Amino acid sequence: MNSALFPTYARADVSFERGEGPWLFAADGDRYLDFGGGVAVMSLGYAHPHLVETLRDAAEKPWHVSNLYQVPQAERLARRLTEATFADLVFFSNSGAEAVECAIKTARKYHAANGAPERYRLITFEGAFHGRTLATLAAGGNAKYLEGFGPKVDGFDPAPFGDLAAVEALIGPETAGILLEPIQGEGGVRVFPRNFLKGLRELCDRRGLLLAVDEVQTGVGRTGTFLCIEQAGVSPDIAALAKGLGGGFPIGACLATREAAKGMTLGAHGSTFGGNPLAAAVGGAVLDVVLSPGFMERVARLGSLLRQRLAELGDRYPSVIESIRGEGLLFGVKTRVPNTEFVAAARKAGLLTIGAGDNVVRLLPPLIVEEEHILEAARRLDNACAELQKSAKPHTGAGL
Ligand SMILES: *Cc1c(COP(=O)(O)O)cnc(C)c1O
Repeated sequence: MNSALFPTYARADVSFERGEGPWLFAADGDRYLDFGGGVAVMSLGYAHPHLVETLRDAAEKPWHVSNLYQVPQAERLARRLTEATFADLVFFSNSGAEAVECAIKTARKYHAANGAPERYRLITFEGAFHGRTLATLAAGGNAKYLEGFGPKVDGFDPAPFGDLAAVEALIGPETAGILLEPIQGEGGVRVFPRNFLKGLRELCDRRGLLLAVDEVQTGVGRTGTFLCIEQAGVSPDIAALAKGLGGGFPIGACLATREAAKGMTLGAHGSTFGGNPLAAAVGGAVLDVVLSPGFMERVARLGSLLRQRLAELGDRYPSVIESIRGEGLLFGVKTRVPNTEFVAAARKAGLLTIGAGDNVVRLLPPLIVEEEHILEAARRLDNACAELQKSAKPHTGAGL
């Protein structure tokens, strides 16, 4: 197709003109059950009445005034985020990468404020993804994404996945903290064990380091708790949010304890669009729903149902599915066929899914899905697996 867009994305040849709940309707009339959710963004599905009404109201008021003035909508959203989490303070951005960028700067500045500006390095993890800005690319460490963009931003030391001893061995006089996704999303839904997360917290406390979590994908109820790391009983010092926070409206947030944010004083950071009235109003409406009584318990319960159905498919189609992993409504299906073929077969069967690293296919349905949608998704996946099994060579292993 002749497009005026940078050809940086591999786009499927389909466009959508209407959405409702977990359903997307293509221009040609086909109906898809969307278990990709625009990459974990559409937390409340399409055309959620409360979000639509909130955005309509906000559209009549000033869209943007800049951070030179009070923004009551942002004040309110920040207050609610602190009430729902470990955090005392919030900085709003427009994307996940910017939220992580703010987390990195906050961690570095904390030590500078403590008179130790040489402590600027963060320990990260192999397989991580933190965004596409120059610093977050360096934090993610994916060689393919870094190539050709000049010298890698300094200050990130990757540890092997889940290896506490290796993390401790990486700590030096310049180490400021540890940065990780509690579940690596783009990396293939790789779940850090709870004990490992507890171990990191203990290590940070013992060595005077900050623990920063990138919950851009896992946060805002996606895994059945507001932050995924809560499930390990761990309280971080800094957390980055985005994706699901706006339910489709671009907004990100960096959350921190008052202590961790001690360096982020007047003039230390800024964003033109960050936390503008439109974005903050919609973020508030998302919280109205996600923080309503029983909502996250429901996410956990539906997640169990989805896990069961996926496990059954795994038993029935061992030449297609290798394993299932995830939490809440964030699942990864590790496939024995190329994950791109799995995604294409699912799409043909009317189900949208998303590829990830490690030859994994991600399922990230809107958090408002009903049991019937999960059963329907399982039926569509069943059809896709049956098609794939026909052509699958038996047990060729992953990633071929
Ligand atoms: C998507 C994602 C990002 C980047 O978010 P953008 O909004 O694309 O900048 C960062 N970290 C994680 C864990 C993500 O999943």
